[in-house]
Amino acid sequence: MKLIDVTVPIDASLPNYPGNTPFTLEAIKRLARGDSSNVSTLHMSAHTGTHVDAPRHFFDNAPGVEALPLEMMLGRTRVIEISSRSGIGAEQLADLDLSDDVRILFKTSNSRLWGSPDFHTDYTGVTASGAEHLIAHGIRVVGVDYLSVEEFKKPGAPAHHVLLGGGAIIIEGLNLRDVDPGIYDMLCLPLRVVGADGAPARVVLRKS
Ligand SMILES: [Zn+2]
Repeated sequence: MKLIDVTVPIDASLPNYPGNTPFTLEAIKRLARGDSSNVSTLHMSAHTGTHVDAPRHFFDNAPGVEALPLEMMLGRTRVIEISSRSGIGAEQLADLDLSDDVRILFKTSNSRLWGSPDFHTDYTGVTASGAEHLIAHGIRVVGVDYLSVEEFKKPGAPAHHVLLGGGAIIIEGLNLRDVDPGIYDMLCLPLRVVGADGAPARVVLRKS
C-alpha cells in the first residue's frame, strides 16, 4: 500500500496568509539550558499550513471544527487536475462527471508555490460559479493546494460562503505536486480544537 503525505511541513519557511499569526516554535524548556526536558509552545493561526475550515469560519454560531463528522473526511476521494490559472469555475468543471464523487481535491499550479516562503497572491482559487457547481453536484469535501479556497481578497468571499453554507468541508493548504489525478482513499484528521473556526490536519492519500 502506497501512502502519499499531502500535508505541508509546518516550519518557519511556511508561507503565511496575510494577517494571520505566523508559525513559531517558542522554546519554554531546553535540556541545553539545564532544564529537565525540551518543551515548546506553538504559536500559529487555526488556518496554518494544511488545515480544515469549519462552518464557523464564516458563520457565527455554526459548528466549530470539533463538530465536523470524521467520516466525511475519510474515504474515496478524487484528485482532479485543473490547468486553468484564471480560477476554478463552473466552466472548468462542466465536462466532468461528478456523479460518483463526494470528495474532490483540486491539483493546480499552486502546488508548485510551496517551495517559496513568500505568500503568493496570484494563486488559483474556486470562483462563486465553481462553488455553486460543486454543491449542486453533491460534493461535500473540497480540497485545494494553497492557503485559501477563495481567490485572493475576493469581495464577499463567495466560495467560502457557498461551500460552508452548502454543508461542505473545505481542506486548504494541500501539497498535491507529487499526486497524479485519480481516485484515492483519503485520511484527513483535523485537530479536535473545540470552538475553532479551523484546525491544522494531517492529510494522507492511499492508492488501493
Ligand atoms: Zn478558508
